[in-house]
Amino acid sequence: QLSTPHDEHIFRSRYPAMPVPDNLTLPEYVLQDAELYGDKVAFVEAVTGKSYTYNEVMRDTRRFAKALRSLGLRKGQVVIVVLPNIAEYGIVALGIMASGGVFSGANPTSHESEIKKQVEAADAKLIVTNDLHYGKVRSIGLPVIVLSDVSIGSAMNWNELLDAADRASNTHVFEEVHQTDLCALPFSSGTTGMSKGVMLTHRNLVANLCSSLFSVGPDMIGQVTTLGLIPFFHIYGITGICCSTLKNKGKVVVMGRFELRTFLNALITQEVTFAPIVPPIILSLVKNPIVEEFDLSKLKLRAIMTAAAPLAPELLAAFESKFPGVQVQEASTFFKIEFYSVVNRISFNAYGLTEHSCITLTHGDPNMDHGIAKKNSVGFILPNLEIKFLDPDTGRSLPKNTPGEICVRSQCVMQGYYNNKEETARTIDEEGWLHTGDIGYIDDDGDIFIVDRIKELIKFKGFQVAPAELEAILLTHPSVEDVAVVPLPDEEAGEIPAACVVISKDAKVSEEEIINFVASNVANYKKVRVVHFVDSIPKSPSGKIMRRVLKEKMVENMGTK
Ligand code: AMP
Repeated sequence: QLSTPHDEHIFRSRYPAMPVPDNLTLPEYVLQDAELYGDKVAFVEAVTGKSYTYNEVMRDTRRFAKALRSLGLRKGQVVIVVLPNIAEYGIVALGIMASGGVFSGANPTSHESEIKKQVEAADAKLIVTNDLHYGKVRSIGLPVIVLSDVSIGSAMNWNELLDAADRASNTHVFEEVHQTDLCALPFSSGTTGMSKGVMLTHRNLVANLCSSLFSVGPDMIGQVTTLGLIPFFHIYGITGICCSTLKNKGKVVVMGRFELRTFLNALITQEVTFAPIVPPIILSLVKNPIVEEFDLSKLKLRAIMTAAAPLAPELLAAFESKFPGVQVQEASTFFKIEFYSVVNRISFNAYGLTEHSCITLTHGDPNMDHGIAKKNSVGFILPNLEIKFLDPDTGRSLPKNTPGEICVRSQCVMQGYYNNKEETARTIDEEGWLHTGDIGYIDDDGDIFIVDRIKELIKFKGFQVAPAELEAILLTHPSVEDVAVVPLPDEEAGEIPAACVVISKDAKVSEEEIINFVASNVANYKKVRVVHFVDSIPKSPSGKIMRRVLKEKMVENMGTK
């Protein structure tokens, strides 16, 4: 902890600073030395076995970048990617970035209207999708590239486009790509309001990788096999999984959706050593009897990391009691213990946010001399980062062991929200601190604990749900006069969106009708799952919804039901 002239309490990493190369774009950085691992598999699909070697990743990233430039994509223009996790996903994203374009991943389960909103908000010029999702984007009116074995409608075909790029001359405009250029525009609702484009540069993401990979020694290069299950459209998937693994010349085992048997099978057959997951998967591992069908002694897993949402201490405790470390008797228990001991050596939790290019705090690698952070903490401060905790009432920074809003300052902080100066100014202050909207504290050992969230955000299984978006949809219902959407705790999903609804006088509408109305407008994970009719929505004198009051009332309600 350092004292500043303003007597601020600023905390820094206990580990030495990591150098950040200043002349490489993200694709150059992650594919550095890839030719030394040319024949090694970089991406393999768990279900189909379709794979790409490092040579193929380098070749197709180059070809796709060339194809995009020959289509006329200019530096800084956004390409929306509507794809599930597939073997080509990383190539698509890196190709866009290498061309000077900006990669913006959309949730492929989104409705057409949701994708259209993202296209408009990002001022996108092009869409990349596959045959399964083409129907949702075809009428948006942008050129579409489809990853498919066959030609579809008027869309450009990925294979044909890459082949054409081989034949094309290099006469198209080439604008040099710099580290300070934008490369990604993921969407996040931040502390309030609708989803917004988060402007990230090559520098932001390279800096994040340098910090988060600080403990990876040379002996781990080429050794790691990562499970690619977290959606790649989310920053945790594209930075924390794809880019990190490529940087380490590991293999990504790509999975499009979670299904417990496929998950366990992939872990075993593909010899996954690192599985970044979200808390609901831990719940499955704890509760689902399917786990017993597998010979877990075959696991090569060294680490599981959960992030993107809070991990309930009770869940962690249940996980541990399900896999006790003693009394090795019957075979199945033995296997569970193997699993436990593997899991015991892990980086258990990590905390990050899109606005900070991904990982911000993490547990260490137990094989390193710095050890790991305490179990229920989200970890310690990564190298190169500064953290402070602000008193939400006074705005003053707080000392150790005192909860306050977590603020972070580093080279990973986004450039701002796209076309939204107001929200940017609300989120990044004049001194460059990113205000996260999360409440936490740091203890005497430098481990950080998250205790609350003051921003509006709801996290359903790690996915962002913006209450403002659901409220806007609900207000279009003819019987809804006023509404507020708040998170309710849920064992499986972490949190679920719940709506407090004021219906107009004489209107007759059921809770189910309201639920169905929202469901027909949004992707499944954003569905309102509880509806509660109220007389009025409590608001502050300035007209702001008093979400905390509402949430507390709803939780109380749940307890009495
Ligand atoms: P996203 O931008 O979608 O990654 O969401 C970031 C937000 O997710 C953070 O600001 C937190 O509110 C929450 N979050 C992420 N990781 C964790 C964690 N390990 N524990 C608790 N909350 C988390």
